[in-house]
Amino acid sequence: MSVALASNIDINSIRKDFPILDQKVNGKPLIYFDNAATTQKPKSVIEALSEYYSSYNANIHRGLHTLAEKATTAFEDTRKVFQKFINANEVEEVIFTKGTTDSINLVANAYGRKFLEKGDEIVITAMEHHSNIVPWQMIAEEKGAVLKIIPVNKKGEISLDDVKATVNKNTKIVSVVYASNSLGTVNPVKEIAKIAHDHDAVMLVDGAQASSHCIVDVQDLDCDFYATSGHKMYGPTGCGILYGKRAILEEMNPYQGGGEMINNVSFEKTTYNDIPYKFEAGTPNIADVVALKKAAEYINNIGKDNIMAHEKALTAHAHERLSEIPGINFYGTADDKVSVVSFTIDNVHPYDAGLMLDAKGIAVRTGHHCTQPLMEHFGIDGTIRASFSVYNTIDEIDFFVDSLKDIVAKFS
Ligand code: PMP
Repeated sequence: MSVALASNIDINSIRKDFPILDQKVNGKPLIYFDNAATTQKPKSVIEALSEYYSSYNANIHRGLHTLAEKATTAFEDTRKVFQKFINANEVEEVIFTKGTTDSINLVANAYGRKFLEKGDEIVITAMEHHSNIVPWQMIAEEKGAVLKIIPVNKKGEISLDDVKATVNKNTKIVSVVYASNSLGTVNPVKEIAKIAHDHDAVMLVDGAQASSHCIVDVQDLDCDFYATSGHKMYGPTGCGILYGKRAILEEMNPYQGGGEMINNVSFEKTTYNDIPYKFEAGTPNIADVVALKKAAEYINNIGKDNIMAHEKALTAHAHERLSEIPGINFYGTADDKVSVVSFTIDNVHPYDAGLMLDAKGIAVRTGHHCTQPLMEHFGIDGTIRASFSVYNTIDEIDFFVDSLKDIVAKFS
């Protein structure tokens, strides 16, 4: 069957923007379906990195010379672009971090350490990435707080009734993934934020997967924190964002001490810089942040709606074609989901399938996807995960499914 793709996408020209796609792997044209792990980078991002290092590399904020000013302007430009990209109220509410993991650790340490007390509760869901579990466990242990888990149903969804049953007057922090990296499920984070606020708790949204696949409007979601990674939205690795509401960020203590985060230092007393710099100790990842702007612009130029429509069509087609495979079991069949298709096949170990697909030039991810408690919930060790991006095609999915059918035939 053929599925209509979003007409506004010129897939051939988009593919030309990504030089890495034009190669053979194991003698076969590369089919890259590991986008939930990291996306490929368009030329504009790669060139921005190279341009920074070849023409204006300098440390930022403190230098008065021309290169330092140019680097500072480029770095701060990315902050402005991101303010718009996530619709933050103020540019100072955008903090640069190493990525989602770093952003969540920042909140767990800088907010959790100051405001959590013995017996307080932190609420997460059963589908969280380890990055949105372990930092909370660590701070909960330190402060004597308790981690509460919202359950996941068979389709890989959470229910608002369960959220209401889990969040209570002891809840201080609710931290939920916007789009699950293992299941694709898009969670009703706006509604969950409302429930959190009704109980005077703060709400963090793990937006690692959402930033390139979902509309992100932090004011509309009314979340208190939003964490995301550059490398999952066509940007470089090692850079990301923490959004926080000004009033809350101002109440928090710094996460790390060092240069840039201070106002004045003496051996008797140090005073701290204003937000966002209070949370950006040391020389940041300047080059990658500078190039991250190009990633956001790349998404804006194609249009989030167009990207989402294209990916939705790919995902529907993948589900339909994969259903032809005998013994296939899908994990994550939520009504609202991003372009992640996770499955097992009876009698075929995910690692075997992954290796045999690699021999055909197809890159998928196999394993627990850093969501071990979720895998345990489903009673499995891991899945085969194909995750699609704007540059993937229906033909690639057809080749993938046909290749899987050949693999399955070898095991039967
Ligand atoms: N949360 C989710 C949902 C993710 O998919 C990931 C990355 N797989 C992370 C958090 C962590 O992101 P990073 O490794 O970029 O910090």
